[in-house]
Amino acid sequence: MSPPRAPMSGKAIVQTHFDRAANLISLESYMRRLLLCPFREVTVELPVRMDDGRIEVFTGYRIQHNGARGPCKGGIRYHPEADRDEVLGLATIMTWKTALMDIPFGGAKGGVTVDPKKLSKLELERLTRRFTQRIAIVLGPYRDIPAPDVATNAQVMAWILDEYSSRQGYTPAVVTGKPVALGGSLGREEATGRGVMYVMDSYAHDFGVPLKGGRVVIQGFGNVGSHLARLLDAEAGAKVLAVSDVSGGIYNDKGLDIPGLLTHVGQGRPVSEWAGGKRITNEDLWTIPCDWLVPAALGGVITKEANARTIDCKVVVEGANEPTTPTADLILEERGIALLPDFLANAGGVTVSYYEWAQNLQQYRWTHEQVNRELKATITKAYLTVRDLAKEKAVAFRTAAYGIALQRVADAERLRGN
Ligand code: GLU
Repeated sequence: MSPPRAPMSGKAIVQTHFDRAANLISLESYMRRLLLCPFREVTVELPVRMDDGRIEVFTGYRIQHNGARGPCKGGIRYHPEADRDEVLGLATIMTWKTALMDIPFGGAKGGVTVDPKKLSKLELERLTRRFTQRIAIVLGPYRDIPAPDVATNAQVMAWILDEYSSRQGYTPAVVTGKPVALGGSLGREEATGRGVMYVMDSYAHDFGVPLKGGRVVIQGFGNVGSHLARLLDAEAGAKVLAVSDVSGGIYNDKGLDIPGLLTHVGQGRPVSEWAGGKRITNEDLWTIPCDWLVPAALGGVITKEANARTIDCKVVVEGANEPTTPTADLILEERGIALLPDFLANAGGVTVSYYEWAQNLQQYRWTHEQVNRELKATITKAYLTVRDLAKEKAVAFRTAAYGIALQRVADAERLRGN
């Protein structure tokens, strides 16, 4: 069963966080309006031939929130609850994420309202090609560059590349998160999890929360959660006590055998069927005492109603986008639980997307070590800027991060004459 999600829409969550930070930097009212309104929205109907011969019609969205600092950038998700509000909220976060990382992009997001588990691989390919055809007019290496997000991956990006290039000529820089054999970057697939680890490491160093030997609980075992668990176990020496997926979770107070669990999941089996720990429900996961709690699945899972008062950790690390509602945010703050916000903690993915795009434009290839080194430098610099402003203004990390990002985008808008 999926965890209950917040009644508040993604767009409303982002608006509330935005207002707090806009007050912090005394942003003028016209600029608030400019920075909240999306630049361009495209909604498309997607007729797709199913394997049994029927045609099913899906709805897809591509929303470009802001392009003042560079081409719009952001993933595409396939999910039954992906709608206009969710995609707009996520597109907005991408603008703040690229600004905070100080990479030359704006923000966008795409989504198709579909349960991809119900589609065959061929149906998924036809859906992706149809979606690409319909939004191609607003894409381009200097216009808008998609990437993977929930339930999309390197294969889906390869179909987008192929469909786009079949009309425009070979254009690898139109999409990132591609397979390495098609111009993808080494280190891109693990980049979001790796970035989360680097941010945790910096915080551990500054605030004395243990990472080596530290107790970590991870909700979600998709691209972000699984790579994060692997890296925390192998490189940071942390103890991953519990992880979950939609089927439920698994818990071992001595720390899970992560390589064993990865082999199990790699065979297409659910986390909860693994024998190396005690089976727990998705609700139990939130009650486990730990140092670090990492929501790494969908948005709206830490709420006042469900768990904000009972979570028992020192730091919440937002591996997912928008996992915490604004009310839950305030409750965590009152309870003295620190929070590393999504557009700082999970920015490793888009940061390595930037390196992939740059490599494609230059027709040049970086080593995996170089990618990791640059990622660490970029995300750590962003972390330090946030930490220093949070201290100076005595505000939460999220408000400080928003303040920095908003300021950068507002400056770019003003320089362009707006
Ligand atoms: N979907 C990822 C995110 O939310 C990556 C976006 C990208 O690489 O463009 O940050």
